[in-house]
Amino acid sequence: MMVYDDNNVFARILRGEIPCRKVYEDEHTLAFHDINPQAPIHILVIPKGAYVSMIDFTERASDVEIAALFRSVTKVAEIAGVSAEGWRLLSNIGINGGQEVPHLHIHIFGGRKLGPMIA
Ligand code: 5GP
Repeated sequence: MMVYDDNNVFARILRGEIPCRKVYEDEHTLAFHDINPQAPIHILVIPKGAYVSMIDFTERASDVEIAALFRSVTKVAEIAGVSAEGWRLLSNIGINGGQEVPHLHIHIFGGRKLGPMIA
């Protein structure tokens, strides 16, 4: 069982304690530009609920929250203007996955031809 840290940076963004460049928000999700973009478009989409990663999310979130996150990701790609030319979604999970912020986030990358996946 993963313990959620209420003071992680995305929890603080959700509480409005740290600013973000918002792209989209709805009842269940928030999307904002990554502070250190790795592509011309690099946006993070997060659930508003307190979930550490995909494991935690799929175990505890409601079906409505899970659907909302995936719908939000697709919507954000449309808003960001990358839908037509293609884009990538990615979520780092745990230590081996290289996850730095312990609040579930989906990265959206686009705006150029992306390189191969790095293992
Ligand atoms: P991870 O390695 O956990 O998958 O990715 C964390 C991402 O969050 C990194 O791409 C990093 O640049 C981004 N990030 C970390 N702190 C902040 C912040 O305060 N604001 C924003 N907008 N992005 C952040």
